[in-house]
Amino acid sequence: MATILNGKELAATLRAEQTEEIRKLAPLAGRPPGLGVILVGDDPASHAYVKNKRNACKEAGIHAPEINLPHDTTRETVMEWVDKLNADPRIDGILVQLPLPPHIPKDDILLRIDPEKDVDGFHPINVGRLVIGEDTLVPCTPTGVMTLLSRYGIPVKGKKAVVLGRSLIVGKPMALLLLAADATVTICHSKTANLSEETRQADILVAALGKPLMITKDFVKKGAVVIDVGISRNDKGKLVGDVDFDSVEPIASAITPVPGGVGPMTIATLLENTLKAYKKRNHLS
Ligand code: NDP
Repeated sequence: MATILNGKELAATLRAEQTEEIRKLAPLAGRPPGLGVILVGDDPASHAYVKNKRNACKEAGIHAPEINLPHDTTRETVMEWVDKLNADPRIDGILVQLPLPPHIPKDDILLRIDPEKDVDGFHPINVGRLVIGEDTLVPCTPTGVMTLLSRYGIPVKGKKAVVLGRSLIVGKPMALLLLAADATVTICHSKTANLSEETRQADILVAALGKPLMITKDFVKKGAVVIDVGISRNDKGKLVGDVDFDSVEPIASAITPVPGGVGPMTIATLLENTLKAYKKRNHLS
């Protein structure tokens, strides 16, 4: 029987800790932390994500204004809003909800965000700092995975970790964080030969593919820790991960469920990154 890594429960604990910390720090800083959220267009999923993130902020005492712009907003207008938030002393973090409409180049917008307010950790300056090994703002999902591992007391040092996926949002920063924690890391992707041979080496297997239920027990070494980042919907509209939980759970030593595993940790880490930027900007430690 594997330990179920309950991200939902842990995220609630983290958010309670953050709320308490903000309650103590706000009088010292003379204001609460601030997260400015820019949302362009009317994609229902993006609206739902932003609503969840802002509700979590409100609960924790983070000021989280939303700039809601219509689909036909120009690149220049979005840039102007980023500039305003960059200059706003009440704002510590800026989140531009992705995807942006196709006529707005994502990279131009993300580059415009002040790296010190880049709570998603997508700015090349922060990516570079992560590569160098400097403490910085790192993408929320992989950071949340590291928190999950450490809070459950799962050792990483000296372990063989295999990361499935090489995106800038999940796979690459995940591999760099595991490397920084002294794991021996392999990154796999769609061109990897003999995928299951690679994955069966893993003491810690992180799946971030977006391929529902692809990782069956044939990909997993007995006793491995299995982290499922994937989120897809099956034909009944139910959320499923990349890992076939029913076949893998009996041989894993620990495993995240979907939903209720990595997903809630992502939001808790967004709040953590906002708090980190706030403390740095206000010289609070
Ligand atoms: P991307 O589509 O950007 O990346 C997927 C990666 O998986 C790519 O590197 C791709 O390889 C690799 N891949 C795809 N198919 C295969 C295959 N058959 N064999 C080996 N490798 C393969 O996705 P993201 O990284 O953005 O997201 C991954 C998953 O995580 C998605 O389900 C997403 O919804 C979920 N997610 C969940 C979050 C959470 O909070 N829980 C947050 C962010 C994402 P290649 O590079 O060669 O194309």
